[in-house]
Amino acid sequence: MGFPQVEAFRGGENVIRVVGHRGARGILPENSMLGFEFSLSIGVPLLEFDVVLTADNVPVITHNHRLHGPTFRDTNGQFLTGEEPKVSSLTYEQIRQFDIGRLDGQSAYGRRFPDQAQLDGVQAPRLLDLLNLIDDPKYGDAYLMLELKSDPDLAHDAPSRENFVGRVLQEVRDKGLSSRAVLHSFDWNLLEECQRQAPDMPSSYLTQLPENADDVGEDSSKAVCPDFRGRRDEIPSLVKQAGGSLWCPYYADVTAENVALAKELGLCVAVWTVNEHEEIGRMIDLRVDAIVSDYPGRVQRQLSDLGMGWHVTHQ
Ligand code: MG
Repeated sequence: MGFPQVEAFRGGENVIRVVGHRGARGILPENSMLGFEFSLSIGVPLLEFDVVLTADNVPVITHNHRLHGPTFRDTNGQFLTGEEPKVSSLTYEQIRQFDIGRLDGQSAYGRRFPDQAQLDGVQAPRLLDLLNLIDDPKYGDAYLMLELKSDPDLAHDAPSRENFVGRVLQEVRDKGLSSRAVLHSFDWNLLEECQRQAPDMPSSYLTQLPENADDVGEDSSKAVCPDFRGRRDEIPSLVKQAGGSLWCPYYADVTAENVALAKELGLCVAVWTVNEHEEIGRMIDLRVDAIVSDYPGRVQRQLSDLGMGWHVTHQ
């Protein structure tokens, strides 16, 4: 029935899926192999992460289009200051000279994650590194929520967008992992391109209403996400019409009505980024399919306390 990777994100009776956001950003460096390995090690095999293309056409796992000052240190161990270089202007070899193992505690961004472990010698991984990891038979239940980060500067540059999607798909296909990933983006036009190039893979539509505040210290999605002001409860229908399999709203944008509509339409509802106890509880009450969190263990704990699980058990 449908795409196996969509079913991996779908909840069930007494089951809500847990997705490790950028691995497990609350406790380990974001978008690092350590974070992904940790999430897998605690039985959270659903991994969310972000992909950007380098100057030499390598899909690299990092969130912003520019090297993020509060998380990237240069070879002198200094956090980047001033104008951050664009990922697309550097080769992967240049990017891996930077260390992403620590957070700048003086920055507004760094202050958001006071429990994150601080490490040295950690590099931004390539998409290929993560594909190699989950290709290990012991991680046969791992599925990827592969976010394609659309560069607002290239919104009208069709060849570069086609190339970006093409390179990502090439890596996934070369490893034979097309059935283990959903293609996830805020940029609905880019998802249309994904569907054109990969009709065999499901699309996951991210949304965020403009009235909600952006997360501090990171690229905003609002530059590329369609503006759904005043249409909150219609969004699931629009996702369905666009050919989506998953709807991934900002957690503050979900209501009992739009979750019910999404489920009626057969969409899988995965909310992000849900980190606080009360918010996690509200999402559980709404019976979303999946909760994307920087603290996957925290979501497990709340589900466990309620006698709920995060795996569908096959009888
Ligand atoms: Mg993301």
